[in-house]
Amino acid sequence: MDARRRLEEERRSTLDRLTALQADFGAMVEASEGSNADDEHDPEGATIAFERSQVSTLVRQAQRHLREIDAALARVEDGRYGRCERCGEPIPEGRLEARPVARTCVACAS
Ligand SMILES: [Zn+2]
Repeated sequence: MDARRRLEEERRSTLDRLTALQADFGAMVEASEGSNADDEHDPEGATIAFERSQVSTLVRQAQRHLREIDAALARVEDGRYGRCERCGEPIPEGRLEARPVARTCVACAS
């Protein structure tokens, strides 16, 4: 599969995940509005607050991943994709399959 198709598939699945997470987050906000979530001594409120922070972390991760995918697509456009940004060597296909947004080879990443 070529790099652009792989990235576009990755982009679509990340967008789906982001949409689902944002729906979860919206449902949690609604649920907490219905309960006594502001009361820190309310154990249910504390659980909801914890779950909300978990989901908002996942939302931020998905958003960051989306920006990485867009940056990788831009590199495909100008022909820099698949080449290590540090040493200039080609990034092995296996690494790009596992991590399509990789900007460096394994040696430079570690
Ligand atoms: Zn390198």
